[in-house]
Amino acid sequence: MIGRALGRRLAGLLRRPISLWYDPRYRLPLSGLEGSTGMEPRRADFAAWWLAASGAVSQQRVRAPSRISIDDLARVHSPRLLESLGRPEVLGGMFGVDPGELAADELLDSLRLACGGTLDATRDTLRTREPALNLLGGFHHAGPDAAGGFCPVDDVAVAIAAVRAEGFLGQVVVLDLDAHPPDGLAACLEADDRAFVGSLSGSDWGPLPGADETLLPEGCQDDPYLTALERLLQRAPRPALAYVIAGGDVLAGDRMGRLGLTVRGARRRDLMVARWLDGRPQVWLPGGGYTKDAWRVLAGTGMALSLRTLRPIPPGYDPLSSRFGRIASELTPGELGDSGDLTTEDLEEALGLRPTRQRLLLGFYTAGGMELALHRYGTLEQLARLGYRNFRVSFDQGGAGERMRLLGEADGLDGPQVLVEAILEKRPCLGVPALYIHWLSLRNPRAHFSERRPRLPGQEVPGLGMAREASTMLMRMAVRLGLGGVVFRPSHYHLAYSARHALAFVDPDRQGRFLALVRDLSGRTLLEATQLVTEGRLLLNGQPYAWEADEMAYWLREVPEDPGEVEREKLRVHFTVAPPR
Ligand SMILES: [Zn+2]
Repeated sequence: MIGRALGRRLAGLLRRPISLWYDPRYRLPLSGLEGSTGMEPRRADFAAWWLAASGAVSQQRVRAPSRISIDDLARVHSPRLLESLGRPEVLGGMFGVDPGELAADELLDSLRLACGGTLDATRDTLRTREPALNLLGGFHHAGPDAAGGFCPVDDVAVAIAAVRAEGFLGQVVVLDLDAHPPDGLAACLEADDRAFVGSLSGSDWGPLPGADETLLPEGCQDDPYLTALERLLQRAPRPALAYVIAGGDVLAGDRMGRLGLTVRGARRRDLMVARWLDGRPQVWLPGGGYTKDAWRVLAGTGMALSLRTLRPIPPGYDPLSSRFGRIASELTPGELGDSGDLTTEDLEEALGLRPTRQRLLLGFYTAGGMELALHRYGTLEQLARLGYRNFRVSFDQGGAGERMRLLGEADGLDGPQVLVEAILEKRPCLGVPALYIHWLSLRNPRAHFSERRPRLPGQEVPGLGMAREASTMLMRMAVRLGLGGVVFRPSHYHLAYSARHALAFVDPDRQGRFLALVRDLSGRTLLEATQLVTEGRLLLNGQPYAWEADEMAYWLREVPEDPGEVEREKLRVHFTVAPPR
């Protein structure tokens, strides 16, 4: 077996030079996006972390994009379109967010950085002839005068127009391998007779003047897809500059794409194109992707370019937990816990000059230490992008356990708001000392419920879209405190669903029923699914089913379990929706 460190060194010897364009602000500051579209908001982060951690791309090759200028955008887009992007209701409408809660400047920042990344990558690859991968972009639905489908502006058309203005006259080829047709891009490039747009799509949006469009049948699998790609490459002119929109929405089960590729098939696609483009200036972009595996397609594009390999990313690899593990190892106990030094506040408390505070959480963390950890994990920066500031951590007793709260302020809201609240206790489960989560609430009081973002059961205000970060941090806390696991009792389906990456029900039968439920509800949005469960509209093997709020756990040390029982129960039960009464 090859160890991680040796694997990284081998990768370093084998890899071809590519440049990677990435900024943490590629994560869109939209808290409800994951729930409403199935989009993984951390896709660029996950791909960047994996490509660095695996050694596929060296740290020196990760470049920060610059923000695109209005002048650059104005070469392609009408003044009317550009002016409209300054209005929160326009951007809000495009991304399905209430304009009142939209951090419009932050969202525009993300999009302008992505466009800047595509232009920077274009200039770079024209100079070096090495492939460039920009981890956000391929906004092919934006036309000269009309935005569309999560695409306010067209980064590819804008980059082409910019290098044309700088004197580049060569043949441009855009291979649009996103699952949807490049309607906006084709319109933007209509007047450029040295630009070829070739596209494979799974959706018929009617004729697409100016593009070589192949419509593939619904559910099209790897082999026929690759045959169609081969034919497209035979027809395409040889490029002096190429763009590849290596869409992640080609995967089977994508919420918006209709094709049926596997992650391996998407990698074969990228390898075929990478060989065809060998030695030519080329910019690769992620396009769409609305499944949890879309990041694997994007990271796989980087591996195809750098290592020319079909080797999969290990199925059990969790980018967030790996990343947070590394950050945790860099946080010292002295930074998180009590240093033993006396502060003025300590002295004043000892002298009775001020009320006694709860100084430590779970006998270890100071409030300052907790705040530092939230900063290092990137949580406070993400909250700032959602419109919050002046963060403060507080501890007190909260019913069943100790309560931790993260407070923050925002324009238009009166005083400090609770953003995160957790009630925690050290308590054994199956005889293993565990971090027991009695209550966890992630609150975004700037956001409002709407038709597109209805109230989830148990919510007072919409969530922050950061449940994965919260549960991963709780796991790091359990490790730090020397506990054997993390346990919580999900009061609703959506809570168990959000935690399922890392946690499983303690009872194998219960876990089997849960997996069957996830399987049988997989065609629905999380909202529909959790409402069906809460409203008691599901039947288990024909009988009415009520949600079972049992303990879920993540074990840090091994706990015996018979995987056969989970599988047996999962196969035994089937959920169906009861007809409306
Ligand atoms: Zn698409």
